[in-house]
Amino acid sequence: MQDTYQRNINYLRISVTDKCNLRCVYCMPEGGIEQVRHEEILSLEEIARVVESAVIAGIRKVRFTGGEPLVRKGMTELIGMVNKIPEIDDIALTTNGILLPRLAAGLRKAGLKRVNISLDTLFPEKFAQITRGGRLSDVWRGIEAARDAGFDPVKINTVMIRGFNSDEIQDFVELTRKIPLHVRFIELMPIGACSSMARDGYISTDELIKSISAKHVIVPEKEVAGGGPAKYYKIPGASGTIGFISPISNHFCAGCNRLRLTAEGRLRPCLQSPEEIDLKTPLREGASLQELADIIKLAAESKPEKHDLTKTGWAGNKRVMTQIGG
Ligand code: SAM
Ligand code: SF4
Repeated sequence: MQDTYQRNINYLRISVTDKCNLRCVYCMPEGGIEQVRHEEILSLEEIARVVESAVIAGIRKVRFTGGEPLVRKGMTELIGMVNKIPEIDDIALTTNGILLPRLAAGLRKAGLKRVNISLDTLFPEKFAQITRGGRLSDVWRGIEAARDAGFDPVKINTVMIRGFNSDEIQDFVELTRKIPLHVRFIELMPIGACSSMARDGYISTDELIKSISAKHVIVPEKEVAGGGPAKYYKIPGASGTIGFISPISNHFCAGCNRLRLTAEGRLRPCLQSPEEIDLKTPLREGASLQELADIIKLAAESKPEKHDLTKTGWAGNKRVMTQIGG
């Protein structure tokens, strides 16, 4: 499926819930977000039906996210359902990792191919601070559970924030020397409550690379399985890699291949744009797979050429990251 800028749209990011068991300061307001009634959220069967129609439109890869996708009951079953759709060749998950010790093996068996785990600091007190109460040891157990279950690669998402974890850059790089983890540094985006935090806390990829290069020899590395917008490097001989995701300094809109589906069944053509297309109503009114696929194609066609977060901040966007699906 091609959009109006000749981009091939084949990737659907699905938010399965707005809820989360953490409250990261750059992502969620302290009091959480307004709760959506359960009936408003797509059921697991409805999500699977959306994916069935999405493959008719050309989607080949899905990622489950949220909120925290693993707080949604039945994720293993959902992955099993999506794994039965022959055209889908990649199923991935972005998680904070806390529930992986209980779920990783079953998720893998059900057909999940890859996991990305978010981890912003290697210090327990700082972890509790940034997540407003989370325990770092829970995430480490989650990372181990993912590796034990056979997930490879395991990617780590680290949002770099000046004055918070910028002093840990070298520690994260060192981590990849011995452990086959793929640490990806993400530029902080001015989203929702964190707009002002992003102004002071934002660090560009260029600055990070400069700072890492002052201490380490790093060489460009080929893409780590799963592709995506990250640019990878590695310390020669290291087990893992480091990657950089630069939505602000080098926005990757020209290569953007994705659509997003919110937990309430709305398609979002672009992370930044407030435009949403209702898929839930036709889905619940009995639309055929082809009719749903046509709506998905329309959403792809309405993808803007690019976002401009640096200029607009999050102006006009009512939703926070957990509602859009990060
Ligand atoms: N709960 C899961 C997790 O934390 O991985 C999945 C959802 S979370 C919204 C997905 C990703 O978005 C996380 O890696 C998180 O760090 C990132 N994220 C959230 N707010 C962000 C922001 N303002 N700027 C950059 N990345 C952000
Ligand atoms: Fe929850 Fe993930 Fe947002 Fe943190 S980044 S509050 S874990 S959804």
